[in-house]
Amino acid sequence: MSDQQSVGSRITEFQLYIDGEWVDSVGGDTRRVRSPASGEQIATCPDGTREDAQRAIDAARAAQSGLEQMTAFERAALCDDLADVVEQHHEELTEWLAMDQGKPLPEAEDEVDLVVTTLRDAGEHAKRAETDVIPSRHPDKRIQTIRKPHGVYGVITPWNYPLGTAIEYLAHGLAIGNAVAWVPAPTTTAVCAKFVEVLDETDLPAGALNLVAGEGPIVGNELVVNDGTDAIAFTGSPETGELIAEDAGTKPTVLELGGNGPVIVLDDANLDLAVECVGNGCFTNAGQICTASERILVHEAVKDAFVERIAADAEEIQLGDPFDDDTDMGPLNNADVAAKMDRHVEDAVEKGATVVTGGNRAHDRPTDLYYQPTVLDDVTTEMVVNEEESFGPIAPVVTVSDREEALKLANSIDYGLSMGVFTDSINNMEYFIRRLESGMININDTSAYWEPHTPAGGYSGKKSGHGRYGGTFTIEEMSQVINVTIGPGERENV
Ligand code: NAD
Repeated sequence: MSDQQSVGSRITEFQLYIDGEWVDSVGGDTRRVRSPASGEQIATCPDGTREDAQRAIDAARAAQSGLEQMTAFERAALCDDLADVVEQHHEELTEWLAMDQGKPLPEAEDEVDLVVTTLRDAGEHAKRAETDVIPSRHPDKRIQTIRKPHGVYGVITPWNYPLGTAIEYLAHGLAIGNAVAWVPAPTTTAVCAKFVEVLDETDLPAGALNLVAGEGPIVGNELVVNDGTDAIAFTGSPETGELIAEDAGTKPTVLELGGNGPVIVLDDANLDLAVECVGNGCFTNAGQICTASERILVHEAVKDAFVERIAADAEEIQLGDPFDDDTDMGPLNNADVAAKMDRHVEDAVEKGATVVTGGNRAHDRPTDLYYQPTVLDDVTTEMVVNEEESFGPIAPVVTVSDREEALKLANSIDYGLSMGVFTDSINNMEYFIRRLESGMININDTSAYWEPHTPAGGYSGKKSGHGRYGGTFTIEEMSQVINVTIGPGERENV
């Protein structure tokens, strides 16, 4: 890595990380990176080419068998070393995350904490990736299963949690013996390169992890279509996920895609809790969460009280510089997501929604990426904000008259990632747990609640993807089970 200095002090020039070396893109192209918070240039990043992706895949291929031959205990020790070095650079990584992604420092701190936890847990899970001895129909045979890595992994990740989403695949992938070529999102490449620079301080074998920055349809696509990758792990939008599913052919894929998580608030709910948790699900990380509370289906008996209270809370949220102590919410990460907020709110208002609070960009900020915490009432099913994932700080409230209507609306959309219900009735809880078409269901908590050792993923038949990540579930996704039958014979030389 060239020209490193303390965060924000001057422009940092990042490179690609291939085979344990920092190198320029073969095309020589670079891109200026501006902080969404200040608009100032903070770095330059290379724009990689297909040839760069090929170099990364070749390096991973060369390193992979060495990783596989290490014992699970050695790879777990490597994960611990990686976690240690992240802890040593915790503050620096937190600042880069706030600067490059735009989230407030406390949220960036939590994300770096998650990286450390996931690295340590991945090593532990790999040590316990036990397999079976299966009874045979024949007295002289032994049948056992062994677990092997898939081989070379193409990992492609989004910008909302640039480290948090990636570490799930990097940590568990390495822990179980895969080598990785990683394409981060273009708008958060700088913090990802900084992260790899930190990991590079360990004895990570050259080629075990390679970073290729660049445009997704170029370097990301190359990872997917190239015969040199054995499997693909992707977190991102349903649209890109569908392209990847088509291009990956028969390669194993894990696709963790978008959500439009409805949260249902029934008339028997603890309204204080519902208001607090839904607000958290709408406005944490400026709403840029796959499991955000994207549609709030509120019973008519409590709707007015709910709207009044969530709007009052939204008005208390301090929108501002991620580095200021009193900031609760920072800017959106990029121009595309900000334009989406404009489009969703405009469409909703045209079709009869009421803007209770917010509804605009904040014009007193250094960039136009700051969007006011917004509460929309009178939202209906034909509005785009109801149909599409907003991925921003909007709480759209739809009124429902009973639990049957709430269930019908909840399941009526294409997504099925995370759904929530607020109710004090066990009967209602059971009704929804049995019927909601969602990979994750949170009762009486924010829709974004997730513990990193538990399974996360989309409901079958919907557009939120397939496969599960989270602790042992990621280990299973990123490895294959081999069936070994051992018959009688001369074994002396085995
Ligand atoms: P995106 O699909 O636009 O991009 C994701 C990644 O894919 C980026 O690195 C991008 O460069 C790359 N890419 C783009 N086109 C590609 C192509 N043709 N081939 C290969 N790679 C390509 O998504 P985004 O805007 O970065 O992220 C937001 C989305 O991610 C939201 O829908 C959100 O819900 C979803 N997400 C899901 C989860 C989950 O766990 N399910 C977690 C975080 C984010």
